[in-house]
Amino acid sequence: MVMFEITEVHAREILDSRGNPTVEVEIYAGEYMGRASVPSGASTGKREAVELRDGDERFHGKGVRKAIENIEKKIAPRLIGMDVLEQRKIDLMLIALDGTGNKSNLGANATLGVSLAVARLASYLLEMPLYKYLGGTNAHILPVPFMNVINGGAHAGNELSIQEHMMAPVGAKNLSEAVRMGSEVYHQLREVLKKKYGRNAINVGDEGGFAPPMKDIEEPFEAITQAIEEMGYSEKVMIATDSAASNFYKDGKYIVQGKEYTAGQLIDVYSDLISKYPIISLEDPFAEDDWDAFIEITAKLGNRVQIVGDDIFVTNPKLIKQGIERKAANAALIKLNQIGTVTETIEAVEMAHRAGWNTMVSHRSGETADDFIADFAVAMNTGQIKSGAPCRVDRVEKYNQLMRIEEELRDSADYGKG
Ligand code: PGA
Ligand code: ZN
Repeated sequence: MVMFEITEVHAREILDSRGNPTVEVEIYAGEYMGRASVPSGASTGKREAVELRDGDERFHGKGVRKAIENIEKKIAPRLIGMDVLEQRKIDLMLIALDGTGNKSNLGANATLGVSLAVARLASYLLEMPLYKYLGGTNAHILPVPFMNVINGGAHAGNELSIQEHMMAPVGAKNLSEAVRMGSEVYHQLREVLKKKYGRNAINVGDEGGFAPPMKDIEEPFEAITQAIEEMGYSEKVMIATDSAASNFYKDGKYIVQGKEYTAGQLIDVYSDLISKYPIISLEDPFAEDDWDAFIEITAKLGNRVQIVGDDIFVTNPKLIKQGIERKAANAALIKLNQIGTVTETIEAVEMAHRAGWNTMVSHRSGETADDFIADFAVAMNTGQIKSGAPCRVDRVEKYNQLMRIEEELRDSADYGKG
């Protein structure tokens, strides 16, 4: 059997797309090296694995020197000498070495950086594309890109309560056509916004989508629908949202565009939006602790749209299991850094798929040029990915990598859920 021993581990502080420090890891087997970097969220779920930040005077407290020290002083001595092809064994070692259940000891930014770099090094050593190494011979589904074209909430400096207004070219014949349609609608939307709201409407938010000064909940949907129609893609490009509702939940009420709603009233708002606009997916329509509201909306609207749990499940197999048992959604958002190792993320995806749930692999609002999630989405045959707008390198590099993979797979590729 082939065995490749890890010989060296190195980590450094680099900057992410928001200009905040993050962890980059390099792992060596002889002269071969696998490199990976770690993303970071702005509207994080409170049960996410812990991202270690230094909290000192450097970088407004956001330095990651502690995580780097943990990699080089605590993880490296254990890792050196291990077989790089033993991903699961390495991840279990990281979990045990951390010992806390939420990675608060080593930091999920430390464990994930290592876990990703190990996978990448293994794929280089085997001279295999990453998606094939992780997913095996049946990795063949190119995911529908859910592109966040109007940013609000924690990702923008405007008044919009709903964080993400996405478009999904579900009717494209393949991924590269989906990317083209996405780009075309995006630029059309730019014109629509400029005409209606003026030039300051075309500034972009953290995920590359526009951040226009809109006041009413319906305005983003109207503008996106108009752009889709003007391009002639009405049957092909649909709309999706991520409310990230934990951010506008206060004392048992939801404050949307300055108005207060009970969970029940907010379901009516969503129901109304779904009947007016071509919406196919609602992510985090309610706050992370409001399980009853998730259960209610899934019962009421779950047969018409996808209900995706992000902050409520935080890619944690235990929470997804509860969600399945309680019918609290019908899909799970998948973010590697919410749980902190590749192995646990695979478990989360498999758990959801076994229950007949959909999964959507996701970037974070703070990203690097690392395109790991593109390969990961194909490896897991998730059929869905969100990586922001078709704009800014930190976002498009994932879509570009998917186009490379599609080109490589050619006739054996399928697009979307099929
Ligand atoms: P975040 O947001 O990366 O800022 O946490 C993304 C999301 O809520 O899906
Ligand atoms: Zn979300």
